Amino acid sequence: MDTKYLFVTGGVVSSLGKGIISSSIACLLKARGYRVTIQKFDPYINIDPGTLNPYEHGECYVTADGHEADLDLGHYERFTDIKTTRANNITTGRIYRSVIDKERRGDYLGKTVQIVPHITDEIKRAVKALGHSGDFDFIITEIGGVVGDIESLPFLEAVRQLRWELGDRSMVVHLTYVPYIAAAGELKTKPTQHSVKKLQELGIQPDVLVLRTEHPVPADVRRKIALFCNVAPDAVIQSVDVDTIYRVPLKMHEQHLDRIILHKTRCPEDGEPDMSRWLKFLDHMDRATDTVDIALVGKYVELQDAYKSIEEALFQAATYADRKLRLHMVHSEKVTPDNVAELLGEADAVVVAPGFGQRGIEGKFTALRYCREHDVPTLGICLGMQCMVIEYARDVLDLPEANSTEMNPQTPDPVIDLMEEQKSISAMGGTMRLGAYECRLRPESRVARAYGSQVISERHRHRFELNNDYRERLERAGMACVGENPGSHLVEVVEVPALRWYVGTQYHPEYSSTVLSPSPLFAGFMKAAIDNHTDKHTH
Ligand code: GLN
Repeated sequence: MDTKYLFVTGGVVSSLGKGIISSSIACLLKARGYRVTIQKFDPYINIDPGTLNPYEHGECYVTADGHEADLDLGHYERFTDIKTTRANNITTGRIYRSVIDKERRGDYLGKTVQIVPHITDEIKRAVKALGHSGDFDFIITEIGGVVGDIESLPFLEAVRQLRWELGDRSMVVHLTYVPYIAAAGELKTKPTQHSVKKLQELGIQPDVLVLRTEHPVPADVRRKIALFCNVAPDAVIQSVDVDTIYRVPLKMHEQHLDRIILHKTRCPEDGEPDMSRWLKFLDHMDRATDTVDIALVGKYVELQDAYKSIEEALFQAATYADRKLRLHMVHSEKVTPDNVAELLGEADAVVVAPGFGQRGIEGKFTALRYCREHDVPTLGICLGMQCMVIEYARDVLDLPEANSTEMNPQTPDPVIDLMEEQKSISAMGGTMRLGAYECRLRPESRVARAYGSQVISERHRHRFELNNDYRERLERAGMACVGENPGSHLVEVVEVPALRWYVGTQYHPEYSSTVLSPSPLFAGFMKAAIDNHTDKHTH
């Protein structure tokens, strides 16, 4: 079967959830047996979001092949179990860079290099690049930003040209917003009409409209939108707010979005999508009545998307354990020895978040000491793991000035230090230890038992490492280095076996946790949390 190209655009406002709609479509097509992938085109000039701080762009997601990517790729993987790569996230910066590199090489043979056709050709090449392998029946391309932005114009021009070239092998799903004006008691369709007009002015006729709305949009209003926008009435789909994003695929299926896509692209529609495992997950969610309280200690807790993958991994783990997740966001800068018992007292377990730099670090140490001394199940991720090691070295190894050289380059006890090969690197973008690495686990460790395996592969994003000079001393003092990279002997996992669950991972287990294949490590952590909850309430 020829590869089909589906473009997802957005209008009116940003943050409508194009990523969720794209993921839901992919989820349904995959459940029908089609081979699907999703890619995101981001109209900013950064080469990738790796250098953006979380205030700008939420979490930075990391693909298995070591690309620092937009957080929507996290949704793609969580909804579909596909593995995305650096080819699944392209920015304006990357497009321009490759055009400029070609110009410098003389590839354009003396021509004037222009946005049309050179930039748009490069975008088209990138759109189709994933198709060359023949591995996919559908390639879904989400165009970041909002129709009408100056930044997204070259991308939309490329979509227009591709629609023309590909005909039935392509289609456009446009997402818009239908606001409810409380004072008038009415849903307003005008912003949608305007945004479709804008798209039409650019030469793009959407095939499907997905209306994001807080209130159901009545059939007559949807018909009116269809009429004004040249879209078939049954192809005007509504996406009303739901309690969890994981219901969206089913909501789309109820309105036959998957079938409409198959008809439009002339693909066989063979029965119904097999959503049985997905439904089982939702079933766990609906059945859960008891709660589990998890505290997440980090410095970006006030931002909605900064710890997206961790939140989703926790939610998946709690759901499969038939618990409702109550997540308490604890600002690491606010944690002090005086208030730590109050801030963490209710938590059944604590996650100490990844991060960079000094800010909030003391609060992480304080939280960790409290958890260690009170045997609260704890998971330290990346910087969280490094803080575990530092706190342990300070208190148990009696090295009061132990630190990471990231925080204090002059520390007499650099228990966390830069890797040798990182020392000469000065460029910021894409230069960390990134992507999936193999890790060997000690068979008797908690972590190996959680994974049910002694060889795992998880994704990394950091520059600093546990300093092997301190490894023996840590081991002797009760902090076991139970996970190691087989080639470099870098320590990837520490745990304190004397405690019920005190585990730190240099890698980020959250990136590989999906709805249909949730992280075993988070499952192990969640079990410890629930056991702690049970103990607390029976004593
Ligand atoms: N700042 C630490 C490092 O670079 C940890 C990074 C992280 O938590 N992702 O090693």
